[in-house]
Order: sequence, then structure tokens, then C-alpha cells
Amino acid sequence: MQEPLKIGKDLSLIDLYDLSLEKRTGSYVLHEEELTIIETSASPSIPHLIKGLEALKIDLNRVKYIIVTHIHLDHAGGAGLFLKECPNAHVIVHPKGLRHLENPAKLIQGAKAVYVSKFETLFDPILPIPNDRLMVMEDNDTLTIGPERTLTFIDTPGHAKHHFSIHDSKTNGVFVGDTVGVYYPHLDFDLYLPSTSPNQFDPDAMLESANKIMSFHPESIYFGHYGKSDQPSDVMNQLKYWLSLFVETTKAYVEKINERSDEENSVLLAEKLLLLVRNELDKKGVPHNHAIYEYIFLDLQVCALGLLDFNRKVAGKTS
Ligand SMILES: [Zn+2]
Repeated sequence: MQEPLKIGKDLSLIDLYDLSLEKRTGSYVLHEEELTIIETSASPSIPHLIKGLEALKIDLNRVKYIIVTHIHLDHAGGAGLFLKECPNAHVIVHPKGLRHLENPAKLIQGAKAVYVSKFETLFDPILPIPNDRLMVMEDNDTLTIGPERTLTFIDTPGHAKHHFSIHDSKTNGVFVGDTVGVYYPHLDFDLYLPSTSPNQFDPDAMLESANKIMSFHPESIYFGHYGKSDQPSDVMNQLKYWLSLFVETTKAYVEKINERSDEENSVLLAEKLLLLVRNELDKKGVPHNHAIYEYIFLDLQVCALGLLDFNRKVAGKTS
């Protein structure tokens, strides 16, 4: 196991090995009187979270808040299981995510439909969270967790409607979940790609949310996947660049779509997106057998589904 990383003042990052991959998802630990954890990943990651907290010498009784940026399973799927270990904690979620954490039947059904036989290995169990252990935060709500630390919640749709980001006054950073994309710290240069998952992806809302985050003038961006960037304007520039490239590529592709099934289309579009990214990585001398391609292709397959879904909705509105 990798030791938790200290990434800022009273701030640590624990690798949660989602899908057994390194630097894929992580939990942030805010070391305050009211000990706060941001993101839990899926249930199979919880043993990694508990080990990481042990390494940080944190008693689970001390955990006060468990914040999930949104309810996608790679961020919040393990929250119910983890909460069982933390008798004094509450889970904080976006108002639109509350009912799904209380009753995860729909989340389970949705994940089973997509992941079929892999569901158990990837996500099981997804446990309901009792209503009296849940809290919601609206746009601009604040929570003070220590003498110098106030968290401000920012409603940030675009990746999902049940997504908020959290500004941290102590480090002047923002925990963005998947709002402004995915960071690949495995490379020796900075690559950030948008995360356009189905079925609430909205590119305009995503850019608006990015601007909202930047209005806090953050010095750091803390990603759901994975780690920290101290170059927020580079993050935003790359988001804009890749997002418009992804959306335009999808539009051009959809115009040529024939009788193929949705599944075939998403595979073909993912390959097109991969070529765009590979083109960029070729310029930086990244070999085609670099492990990063495993991460990127996983992400682009999900991106393709969301881009096609968004396109269908736009077409439905204009026809
Ligand atoms: Zn995610």
C-alpha cells in the first residue's frame, strides 16, 4: 500500500485503488477538530480507506463528516459501508442526490444494467444510508470544521446534476469531483480530460460550473480522479479545448451514423476520441504501450456514451 500523501496544510490524500488501479480514485482527509473526508469511492475501496486512516493514526470514531461530491458509484458507492465504521459521522450530499443514498435501489439497478456480471466485484455492497445520518448542502452553504477552515459548497452541474464542488478556505483549493475533468498524474506533463458521463452531461453547464469554481480564485484543484493540480488556469484551458473537440467530433460523427447499434456507435466514437488524445500524447513522446492508455480508454468509453446521449437529446429538441 502507498502511504497517504500530505498534499496541503492539514490535508492528506489516500489512494483507494478503484478497479485495482493506482491513482484512480482517492479520499481527501481534512485534519480538523471535525474530521472530514471527501469521497469514499466504491465499497471494494473501503478497506484501503480504513488502512489509510490507520496509517494517519485517525480513530474512526473521530470522523465527523463524509462528503461525496456526487452520487456516482466511484465517488459515493462505498459511503454506506464506510459509515457503518464511523458511529459519529454524517454523510453530506447534493440535495438532488439525497434520495438515492437513502434508497440506492435505482443506483444498484442502473449499475447492474451497465456492468452485468462485473457488478459484484466492482460495487457490492451498496448500502442505504439512514435519513438521520444524511445532510444536504445548497449552493453557497458553508460549514466550519475547524478554527481556520470553512468549506463553501458550490452547485456545479455539467458532469451530473447532483454534483457540488467544495471550496476550502485553509488551502484556497476546490474539491471538484468530476466537474472539470480527470487528471492523469501518471505522466510527466499535465493532461486533463473532460468527464462526459451519461446521462446528465451538459457541456454548457460544465463550462459555467468551471467559471463558478474559478470565481473563487483557487490556487489548487483537487480532482476526484486523481490528485492535485496547482495550475487551475491550465486545468480550465484544457477543459475548454478538449470539451469542444469532443463535442464537435461527436456531432460530425453522429451525422454519419447509420444503422449501427448504440453499443457499436459508442465503441467507434470512443476509438475516435482515443485517436485525438493519442495524437496529442504522440507529440509528447508517450509510447503507445504506456499504462496510461488503460486509464484513458476506460474513461473515453464512458465519455462516448455521455456524448452520444447528449447529442440525442439536442437532436430531439431541434427536430
Ligand atoms: Zn468519477
